[in-house]
Amino acid sequence: MDVTRVNASVNPCDDFYEYACGVLNAANPIPPDQTEWGVGGELEAWNQQILRDVLETNEPANAARTPNEQKIGDFYASCMEQVRANADDVKALEPLMARIRGMSIPRDIGATLGALHGAFGQAWEGGDNQTNAAILGFGPQADYHDVGRVIGGVDQGGLGLPGRDSYLENDAASKTLRRSYQTLIETLLQKDGAPIEEAHRDAVAVLRLETAMARAQMDNISRRDPAKVDNRYSLTELKALVPAFDWDGYFRAVGAPDVPLYEVSAPAYFKRLNQLLTSEDLEVWKTYLRVHLLLGAAPYLGNGWRDAEFGFMKTLTGQPQPPPDWRRCTDAVDAHLGEALGEVYVAHVFPPESKVRAKKMVKDIEAAMGRDIDAVAWMQSDTKREARRKLAAVMDKVGYPDHWIDYGSLTITRESYPVNVERATAFELKRQLAFVGKPLDRTQWAMTPPTVDAYEDPQTNTINFPAGILQPPYFDAQADDVVNYGAEGAVVGHELTHDFDDQGRKFDVQGNLRDWWSANDARQYEQKGACIANEYSGAVPGVAGVKQNGKLTQGEDTADNGGIYLALSALAEDLKEQGKSLDQKDAHGLSNLQRFFIAYGMSWCDQIRPEAARMMVLTNPHSMPVLRVNNVVGNMPEFRKAFGCKAGQPMVHATTCRVW
Ligand SMILES: [Zn+2]
Repeated sequence: MDVTRVNASVNPCDDFYEYACGVLNAANPIPPDQTEWGVGGELEAWNQQILRDVLETNEPANAARTPNEQKIGDFYASCMEQVRANADDVKALEPLMARIRGMSIPRDIGATLGALHGAFGQAWEGGDNQTNAAILGFGPQADYHDVGRVIGGVDQGGLGLPGRDSYLENDAASKTLRRSYQTLIETLLQKDGAPIEEAHRDAVAVLRLETAMARAQMDNISRRDPAKVDNRYSLTELKALVPAFDWDGYFRAVGAPDVPLYEVSAPAYFKRLNQLLTSEDLEVWKTYLRVHLLLGAAPYLGNGWRDAEFGFMKTLTGQPQPPPDWRRCTDAVDAHLGEALGEVYVAHVFPPESKVRAKKMVKDIEAAMGRDIDAVAWMQSDTKREARRKLAAVMDKVGYPDHWIDYGSLTITRESYPVNVERATAFELKRQLAFVGKPLDRTQWAMTPPTVDAYEDPQTNTINFPAGILQPPYFDAQADDVVNYGAEGAVVGHELTHDFDDQGRKFDVQGNLRDWWSANDARQYEQKGACIANEYSGAVPGVAGVKQNGKLTQGEDTADNGGIYLALSALAEDLKEQGKSLDQKDAHGLSNLQRFFIAYGMSWCDQIRPEAARMMVLTNPHSMPVLRVNNVVGNMPEFRKAFGCKAGQPMVHATTCRVW
């Protein structure tokens, strides 16, 4: 990260994002096969090249390969071979298609859906808006009130568009998106043999059904509130909630163990689902399941199936060209055999020294959080004591899992790409459901090692940093601490702050949903949080027609604002230990404090296509990059001091917000 590569024609006090990113962004336009492009994207591309080398090495059949190398190599080979052979591979879907066709009564939907979930999609993986699987999501979920046991999680799902608003909004972009989705469904049905008229009629019916489902879904702001998604049902109560659905048949089909209790995220959705299961003709449900099987499988089929899917993605994201085959196939191995591939990745690019240095940074930032808890004036001693206990119990996970997933029971061959995907999906669903009935396992990872991202999880009380983001330019074991703390340190602080954001603060030291706040401290917190939600609401500068809702992004914004303070506080201590200071200047005349802020700003340099930006503000709880930089520094007196900004300048906010 070259912190001297700033846009010197811009005053940092006027627009810090433009100052930090203007030169980088101008020199790096979004490639036609990307939706967005920036510093993070370049690191992702670098990681993908490492993975590509690993996969190409293991692609040729070779008796010397280890069992994991055989699996990742053959999975990759099956994906690339589909292209070389110009194969269609749609026949792989026939057994599931036959099941759908063979349904004779509405109760057959349960077992058929279970079979579908065991083949395509990630029914166990809840997203910000819904679970991207037909009809519903199902997977392990720690009891909100007792993480000592994992129970069943039942989530709203079933939408092919990114969230409920895509069905309900009436602006031009939403209408275009729906038309494009309808075209996709028509194309898939025609490719699957439906006459044009029938395909059209069926697509209209599916869109109508999904719109009815969308209308009953919980919105993504309510979904952020643990109290709203915490609805416990016994099996008897779950069956009474949706009596028209054959739960026993579904659970048998996915291979669920006996589950005594379920968390149902959105009961209103399931009430409506019950009505729709009763009121809609079985033929409509058959079409819906057929379409969702085709939608789930299309990315793994050849001969025009993927083109149809990409046509829709183009409308959704604005990306004009699909990724090259090697990248698409590499991503698929990462998604389906992530720890087998990740283990090799780590051996190549994440040496023990990197782990040691990253762990030290995490510890330093946790110490900064402790100092911050002690220092804040708005929180009183009883709540502080609980916060301190919670902080002490945070588990840091750095780089990769201590124990890798054992893929021994999974068969992967070179024969068929979609069959490999089905088997890997079935394997992962089974692995996920095996957690049910046990205490929550804090050592599991929800991201693969090469991922350029990080996360916090309130129930396991963990912060998790994959090796993929502990790489230059975010983190460089050879670079000086100032740059490392400004870029990677802010990410570490961000995740740690999530443990104490408007969601995280509601979970206690154990990870249980329990209120440990005094009424007055909670009130103080709410006020500070509201300041942030307000600050981030409204039009996004430089992105025409895009408005953010600060209530959706409040947790992420709190984490950004807290994260940079923690990183700066940790850096100041670190420099002091080395006999240095934040005021010292380098050969270019930049002080350490300035370099810290520039590294932070540069770490967020990112250009996003307008279509994707529009979708992002509707469905994604993260703020747009320009706000992740400018609102954060606009809140900080330290930034003003670093660049000599004066009241009235845009980067000196009249009302400043701060929680942590
Ligand atoms: Zn976050």
